[in-house]
Amino acid sequence: MATRSAIRETAPARLIRDLDAYRIGWELIDHARYSYWGGLRAVVVQFSRGCPHPCTYCGQRGFWTRWRHRDPVRFAAELARLHREHGVRVINFADENPTVSKKVWRTFLEALIAENVDLILVGSTRADDIVRDADILPLYKRAGWERFLLGLESTDTATLDLIRKGATTTTDREAIRLLRANGILSMATWVVGFEEERDRDYWRGLRQLLAYDPDQIQMLYVTPHRWTPYFRLAEERRVIQLDRRRWDYKHQVLATRHMPPWRVLLWFKLIEVILQARPKALARIYLNRDPRLRHAMRWYTRMGRRVWPHEILAWLRDPLTRTGPTVAAFWGRGQEREEAMAVRAAARSHPAGREAA
Ligand code: SF4
Repeated sequence: MATRSAIRETAPARLIRDLDAYRIGWELIDHARYSYWGGLRAVVVQFSRGCPHPCTYCGQRGFWTRWRHRDPVRFAAELARLHREHGVRVINFADENPTVSKKVWRTFLEALIAENVDLILVGSTRADDIVRDADILPLYKRAGWERFLLGLESTDTATLDLIRKGATTTTDREAIRLLRANGILSMATWVVGFEEERDRDYWRGLRQLLAYDPDQIQMLYVTPHRWTPYFRLAEERRVIQLDRRRWDYKHQVLATRHMPPWRVLLWFKLIEVILQARPKALARIYLNRDPRLRHAMRWYTRMGRRVWPHEILAWLRDPLTRTGPTVAAFWGRGQEREEAMAVRAAARSHPAGREAA
């Protein structure tokens, strides 16, 4: 809380356990002004908040403290109403991990199918949830799912262990295969900028990404935020980006031990272009038999063509520093302890644990 003279730290806010106790003020939105997915009318929603997984670089667990979800049937009815009354076509899930409970998720999918509305659903989830749900992926498709962003983060087992992702390279690959078999696009996120990376790691990563064969790739730079456990691991690393607004995963912020920033950028951009412009990817963009997926791939490609050169030009225009401080000196002490206290406080006030898993 900020007063006129100082910033004062207040106690953690009370956890909203029942997300249905509050309604979204849809009447405040002029839906005609919001589009996504290539000009289609769209809204951003949350079916759930939080995530039960402990990935060290991610702040979601600390921020939302525990996983909770909305009533799946009421939620499906709300999406259907947005379609019928406001012409909404695309539902963009802002959830960190909406599929935590298979039982609840299946109820939601069946309820939305029963509403019989022509919606496009896009969002993020974990690869192991997709593999777990192999038998109900046809329900995902019938409900309208068109793309999942899968946070693979790395194709290197040691890195996955370091960030405590709790994933395996086999599961990640299988999730992409299953999504494709069910007519759903996959976008893989891949994180670079870990301290010990060398050219050979990028080369190996590129080959593995090609073997995974995702439809779309989203490259990110590792970014140690103060409220994540990863901050502690990166405290002594050298900062090369002094503009805090750019600590957004899309800018290089840390020096790596064995590679200059320009070479990291080169690999980053090269991997993007190889993944998206290889013959297989081009065939999916231009010859896809499913008109909905063809539209999605073409729209994503158009966006990528604008972003790709823009990021290179921005890198050239705004030079990175060579003499930056360490992460700890730049940001101050980590906030992991405060986040952990908030999680414990929330758990004490609601000791029932995960209600739906
Ligand atoms: S990275 Fe994904 S799975 Fe891991 S804690 Fe964050 S939201 Fe959960």
